[in-house]
Amino acid sequence: MSEITIFEDEEKALREAETILASSLPEDEPWASYYKDLVIRYRKLLRHTKQLVKMGDAMQSELARARDAAEFQATRDFLTLLWNRSAILGILKAEIARSQRENRPLSLIIGDVDYFKKVNDEYGHLVGDAVLREISERLKSSIRTYDQVGRFGGEEFIIVAPGCASDDAVELGERVRAVIAENPVYTSEGPLSVTMSFGVATYGCAATADVDSLIRAADEALYRAKREGRNRVAG
Ligand code: GH3
Ligand code: MG
Ligand code: MG
Repeated sequence: MSEITIFEDEEKALREAETILASSLPEDEPWASYYKDLVIRYRKLLRHTKQLVKMGDAMQSELARARDAAEFQATRDFLTLLWNRSAILGILKAEIARSQRENRPLSLIIGDVDYFKKVNDEYGHLVGDAVLREISERLKSSIRTYDQVGRFGGEEFIIVAPGCASDDAVELGERVRAVIAENPVYTSEGPLSVTMSFGVATYGCAATADVDSLIRAADEALYRAKREGRNRVAG
């Protein structure tokens, strides 16, 4: 821990007192030993005060660490470490408000793994979990820096894309789709081809003016993508 500097004045006064006591006090004066004792006690008091300050600092850092850890746990999905459902919905809500204020578009993309139940059924739940983790990595690495991705639940994911108009969002969805579909996921059971379907909705028109209606619109688009054959993006 770094040296405490807030007691510099006290240290200076003590050093001065010690210098005076060492050089110019007559040994036989009764008040001289009283002053010496006083300075020794003051030195001890200062040492203890510094220890207390250090303990306070350590407790404060520990508290900050615990608060960060609690915040991380409360906002992350435990399997994928993406934003969890409530965190990504909070982000979506805040981004809708920002888009409203700044009069900018905002898009929402919901992605769902195709035939994921078959992965679990054929290779087991742990392989399914590993596939979800790899998908999450690919989602994270294929979005733009100002986009946010979260796990909506199960094998469904949400991307919030601020400033992204409808066409750009379909393009983004297409890029993410390709990143998932183009390379197999390597698992303990060998390489598995995985695809995802995506539904895109863009904030702006009256029908998509809040979190619920935007999600509903993206969900409807997703189901269209599923109906039309999966491994595709519908806007
Ligand atoms: P579709 O193409 O229509 O989306 O088919 P699907 O099989 O993906 O859809 P369905 O909703 O029938 O199955 C989703 C599966 O996802 C079922 C559920 O067991 C699995 N699942 C949900 N959460 C997890 C998880 O955390 N880990 C694993 N391994 N599987 C999960
Ligand atoms: Mg699903
Ligand atoms: Mg699915």
